[in-house]
Amino acid sequence: MTPSVVRPGDPVLVTVTGTRELPHGTVNGKRLQFFASRTGYQAVFATALDATTDAIAAEDAVTVDIDGAPTQTVRLRSGTFAETSVIVEDELANPSKADRARIDADNAAIIHAAARASGEPQFARPFRRPPGEVMSAFGTWRTFNDGHRSQHLGLDLFAREGSRVNAINAGTVVLVRDCFLAGNVVVIAHGGGIASAYYHLSQISVAEGDTVAPGDEIGRAGHTGRATGPHLHLSIHVPGGMVNPAAFFPLQLAPAGSAVTQR
Ligand SMILES: [Zn+2]
Repeated sequence: MTPSVVRPGDPVLVTVTGTRELPHGTVNGKRLQFFASRTGYQAVFATALDATTDAIAAEDAVTVDIDGAPTQTVRLRSGTFAETSVIVEDELANPSKADRARIDADNAAIIHAAARASGEPQFARPFRRPPGEVMSAFGTWRTFNDGHRSQHLGLDLFAREGSRVNAINAGTVVLVRDCFLAGNVVVIAHGGGIASAYYHLSQISVAEGDTVAPGDEIGRAGHTGRATGPHLHLSIHVPGGMVNPAAFFPLQLAPAGSAVTQR
């Protein structure tokens, strides 16, 4: 498993070699979504955001059970996330009841779309981090004008208004939606349980059902929804939840067939 030490919200890659049969395994009791890889089988899962070092000894420790193999554990490094305060327009910081309902519906639609990423990987190349300086890291706690706190479950990258936003890998567009907080959103299912979501777009150039190749333009950067300025918010969903994109990109994902297309 890589990495062997993770922070809460980091993804873990499980690679099983030396078998031709699809392995069955669980992490903390949840089924792993294995796919065929160049050297055997692989699966990705998310470490719980609220996981603490104490959890190692507790029932909810990150243990991976694969049929026919000894139980493995992943060590957790305790993680505290940065605290920031954000001032936005009042209606965005303190949404009305109706807006709150819309936000919940938006979130449910995004989670539901990302869950459609199960099945065989549609990608053959490594995932590419979009360009741009980091404006806000994954996991940062934000305190808004009215005092409420929320955790940032994506990576904010600086992007000029109207600059191209490209798919981080091949996949299928599973959601195009105008969201209250996230603005114009595109979600791409890549298979293997992996999905990517792009927020605050000023324009969208794909439709639900479209297949995209790595690097295809999916829209233009902007600051729609609750954003203090133009940037790309990127979320990565894997089985178990959203993970830190900065920790996701280095994973050595190698789906079967990828050897042919990789240089
Ligand atoms: Zn963001």
